[in-house]
Amino acid sequence: MAKVTIIGATGQVGSYVAHAVSQFPHVQEMCLFGRVGNEKYLDGLAHDMMDSFAARGTNTRVSFGTNEKELRGSDIIVLTSGVPRKADQTRLDLALENAKIVKQYAEMVGRMAPDSILIVITNPVDIMTSVALKYSGMMPHRVFGLGTHLDSMRLKACLAEFFNVHVSEVHTRIIGEHGDSMVPMWSATTIGGIQIDNLLGAAKVPREEMIERVKNSGTYIIQSKGSTVYGPGDAIATLIKTIVEDENRMLTVSTQIRWDIVGQEGICISVPTRVTRGGVFPIAVWMADDEVKAFSNSVEVIKDVLKKVYSILDKK
Ligand code: NAP
Repeated sequence: MAKVTIIGATGQVGSYVAHAVSQFPHVQEMCLFGRVGNEKYLDGLAHDMMDSFAARGTNTRVSFGTNEKELRGSDIIVLTSGVPRKADQTRLDLALENAKIVKQYAEMVGRMAPDSILIVITNPVDIMTSVALKYSGMMPHRVFGLGTHLDSMRLKACLAEFFNVHVSEVHTRIIGEHGDSMVPMWSATTIGGIQIDNLLGAAKVPREEMIERVKNSGTYIIQSKGSTVYGPGDAIATLIKTIVEDENRMLTVSTQIRWDIVGQEGICISVPTRVTRGGVFPIAVWMADDEVKAFSNSVEVIKDVLKKVYSILDKK
């Protein structure tokens, strides 16, 4: 049984995740957490959720609060607080503004629930995950970000549509930055268990077009309806289910790696990762030469921004 706390529950992604996750029987308590001054809203949200759970027949307890003590006893904490990306902004533009918010909450989680698993959603998510890990003081296997999990799901959907198969027949991964430098791992892409290059239709797959579609998917949705909610929300819910039910899945999320390609100081970036009830454990894999090159570029993009962010955060 688990207590799941959503920091940023007043936001669109946070409130959707709270609702989506409550359907899992292992989630015994849901804590809706927000900033001071929002108590009335959180109270209303909690009551609305309780009505929903009663109608659904879900037995999840709901609590809410703005005091850091509410975080105690959490098994999983999802951090969605932050300013959302505007249509004309890159995720990296957001870094400085959101890093200050993430630092403050990471320190709080480190004080109140250091043994929980902290999942970072705030963008730019790879930078924010490194910030959360550093300032929470938590163990690296207890802090991770949504990373390219959603991007991988988006590519999966494109390939399922192209090959006209059920999405469960497609296995693929996008690694690297959740952003423009993301790297599709075609070497790890299979359709019905068959490596994509061994399929007769492989040459016709519009790979560049598909990756562009994945990269621009968030912007497209933001331009159309203002924000992305259900895609990230259900991707996060899947991660929580994987943890609370100890499903031991291999997903592509942003975790700290200290491989040669990154350097000993380590950064958080998406690679195939074992996700368990005990935490997350990145898995070293073979990559094709062009994938290594593109992944190294992604590492540099993240390192560059992270350096600037740390230089400002550490001043205070
Ligand atoms: P939203 O609806 O605007 O919600 C923002 C949340 O952050 C609210 O709870 C808000 O609290 C809180 N917040 C804003 N400024 C704050 C501050 N200075 N201090 C403390 N809390 C603050 O945004 P959203 O659509 O839920 O998105 C939330 C974050 O998730 C954004 O950073 C967005 O880019 C990111 N995101 C990431 C992915 C991904 O794939 N990684 C996907 C979607 C969204 P108040 O209600 O008190 O203002």
